[in-house]
Amino acid sequence: MTVPDPHVGRGKSFTALRVVAEEVVRCRRCPRLRRHCLEVAAVKRAAYQEETYWGLPVPGFGDPRAWLVLIGLAPGAHGSNRTGRMFTGDRSGDWLYAELHRQGLASRAVSERAGDGLRLNGVFITAAGRCAPPGNKPLPAELDRCRPFLVRELEALRDVRVRLALGKIGHDAFLAARRARGMADVKPRPRFGHGAAHELPEGGWLLDSYHPSQQNTSTGVLTAAMWRSVFDAAVRLGNPV
Ligand code: SF4
Repeated sequence: MTVPDPHVGRGKSFTALRVVAEEVVRCRRCPRLRRHCLEVAAVKRAAYQEETYWGLPVPGFGDPRAWLVLIGLAPGAHGSNRTGRMFTGDRSGDWLYAELHRQGLASRAVSERAGDGLRLNGVFITAAGRCAPPGNKPLPAELDRCRPFLVRELEALRDVRVRLALGKIGHDAFLAARRARGMADVKPRPRFGHGAAHELPEGGWLLDSYHPSQQNTSTGVLTAAMWRSVFDAAVRLGNPV
């Protein structure tokens, strides 16, 4: 089984992320999710009938020397589960990569699919879960089973200064991953809120944003200005003058 988007670089971080990605792609720990992903990949959406869906767990994607790590929810059934790359192939990805490019953090404004040559600069994208869940709702036990991958990615990313949680599940997953790494709880416990920045005892920040799902962006819960300002804040926090 090959990793769809091999990380670029060398050194310990690169090697550790590569090993995690290979294990993610082979993982079968959640039978309900694996069944769902394969069913979606076989039936397909009408618009994508000619495409071959990825259908496997989706590994993290990005720069092993990232200063900014993005933590999302889980692959979309016809997005990442189709293309094999985090936040790629649906509207949330359109929002994300356009903004990363605007900030100079992505080589292009559009992410098409794994292997399209897109490069991230200083950013790594991951998620609480790696398999598309029915109704976009992973079960708590499924998130628990997937957490070791997030823990290992966070350990491998040694240069991270800002963790940007895209949605409350990403926020909670990051805090749970800290706990799994043996770190003391942050006190008072950081409460999720769009634009909230929480200073971490180990250094750096946890920053929150609403998830750029169509449900949020089409209803005005998350506007383009709100989205832009959260990335402006990430750049400010991660690169203090
Ligand atoms: S959600 Fe995570 S733990 Fe569960 S099968 Fe997918 S990759 Fe494995």
